[in-house]
Amino acid sequence: MTLKESTLDASRAAFDQVVDSGAGFSKRIARGQVLRIVDLEGYQAVDTLFYDAHEPSERYSAVDTIREQGNVYLTTGTRLFSTEGNVLLTIVADTCGRHDTLGGACAAESNQVRYALEKKYMHACRDTFLLQCACHTRDLTKKDITANVNFFMNVPVTPEGKLTFEDGVSGPGRYVEMRAERDVRVLISNCPQLNNPCNGYNPTPVRVLIWDAH
Ligand SMILES: [Zn+2]
Repeated sequence: MTLKESTLDASRAAFDQVVDSGAGFSKRIARGQVLRIVDLEGYQAVDTLFYDAHEPSERYSAVDTIREQGNVYLTTGTRLFSTEGNVLLTIVADTCGRHDTLGGACAAESNQVRYALEKKYMHACRDTFLLQCACHTRDLTKKDITANVNFFMNVPVTPEGKLTFEDGVSGPGRYVEMRAERDVRVLISNCPQLNNPCNGYNPTPVRVLIWDAH
């Protein structure tokens, strides 16, 4: 866990938008720009995918990212690797300290298995990702929705190697910030999940800011 505050001033951001709880977001980020995601009220999982903006078949790779840094958690200094071994973004500031890339995104099918049959029809991150692909991109389809980052989500690995979904380690106003090392597209699903502690059983909005290269 490496806590680091940013020196960037929110009033100088080139882009600033609140993403409501359960909503999606998609944007192209140019090389050198800095993306910040703020957990406005705390304990909110932000499911996120990254793609090379010019060649979307090259996308974020959880397994390459974990192997290259020799650690399963993401924090300051983590380089987010692509499926082709290139660095898409680098985490340059982090006031939460730990982010997950093992737990995956919630889906209608997994909600049904984990919680109850009638939960199948609740909105899920996979639905949000698919909507973002359909409405805001020309080249991404459901085959491109793969292992993602869950910013602010706490999925510790036990000494026996088990995965557990635990209460969040984030809090109101904590943020993570990353610099784009290539032109990338980001897809966000601000998780609508009500049934497990990843959102404190109460999904809340997040804020997305982008600064131009400096
Ligand atoms: Zn979710």
